[in-house]
Amino acid sequence: MSAGDTGAADTSLPARAGAVLTIDLAAVQANYRRLQERLAPQARCAAVVKADAYGLGAARVGPALARAGAETFFVAQLDEGIAVREALRCVAPEAEILVLNGTGAGPGADFRAHRLIPVLNSLGEIESWQSEAARAGHRLAAALHVDTGMNRLGMPQAELDVLAEDPRRLDGIGLRLTMSHLACAELSRHPMNAEQRAIYDAARGRLPAAPGSLANSSGIFLGPAYHYDLARPGVALYGGNPTPNQRNPMQQVVRLQGKILQAREIDAPQTVGYGATHRAAGPCRLATVAVGYADGYLRSLSNRGRAWVGGQSVPVVGRVSMDLITLDVSAVPPEASRPGALVDLIGPEVPVDDLAEAAGTIGYEILTALGGRYHRVYRNG
Ligand SMILES: *Cc1c(COP(=O)(O)O)cnc(C)c1O
Repeated sequence: MSAGDTGAADTSLPARAGAVLTIDLAAVQANYRRLQERLAPQARCAAVVKADAYGLGAARVGPALARAGAETFFVAQLDEGIAVREALRCVAPEAEILVLNGTGAGPGADFRAHRLIPVLNSLGEIESWQSEAARAGHRLAAALHVDTGMNRLGMPQAELDVLAEDPRRLDGIGLRLTMSHLACAELSRHPMNAEQRAIYDAARGRLPAAPGSLANSSGIFLGPAYHYDLARPGVALYGGNPTPNQRNPMQQVVRLQGKILQAREIDAPQTVGYGATHRAAGPCRLATVAVGYADGYLRSLSNRGRAWVGGQSVPVVGRVSMDLITLDVSAVPPEASRPGALVDLIGPEVPVDDLAEAAGTIGYEILTALGGRYHRVYRNG
């Protein structure tokens, strides 16, 4: 994109909106296909759409992914599963939807009513799903999560020993998948990756045969040994870099443009914003933008974030407040930073991961924090 091509001409902003969030569904689909192409021939690519598709809107992102070929979807919570089932009703009624938080996420009857598959995380969950199958009078599908070192969700090794001794505990359950989750996948040289894979292989060898799944977004880039039968990418679908410290192989999905409300000239020794944390060193021009921490523009970006306006990278100066941020636009021609102009807070020149780094967090948190006040535009939906 050419310098300066960031203005209102690109996106029609309703007069009442303070910011516009553009979500490029064609880019999500391109990312899905790119990941699927990377996988070993036997492996299929699922789509993780938990937390409302990482803040981007599962009701729109889910169907777009289904049209790109996704047949298996992962959510965290039961209600998310119900919402995704509804969103896929026309485009992919037979899609598999798995609930990572397991039977603890809600009543078994609700799983069945919406054809949601729990990811069972313990012997207790296996037992409760077995009882549900008895009530149903037929086998019920489930996935099994074995913990291989994350110590978060998944069946601990001691419980795996019990299950391996007594596989009848799975009677009545149609095992669709045996999965685990990597703790350090984005660190390609971390020894824990190979360790977890070895523990996972050993666990699968002791369990009834079922398709396997280990890789999240970054896990896909660890190579075919990590692909098994199903990959579970999330953040890479939404443009996050699954290979930190290397070029991002994914297409950007999100553009966030904030509207300038006011511009002003100040001179030293005046200060900017709450706490007077920024002091003008000399004459400068400021622009105040209608986005703040209530919109998910994290307060930790105070004096650290950067935006793009008029073909220039400009700094956030002063504190991020609830509804506003202030930019030093001295380097930008005044006509590009007048009230009403749009600045890129996330965009081609301000990648999500760069913003995350400035905020001291990860792209996942930037995306899932994106607020409800934005005017949302879905492109190529
Ligand atoms: C969130 C999650 C994923 C997706 O992870 P990304 O890093 O976003 O690709 C995959 N598997 C499990 C178990 C998860 O919780």
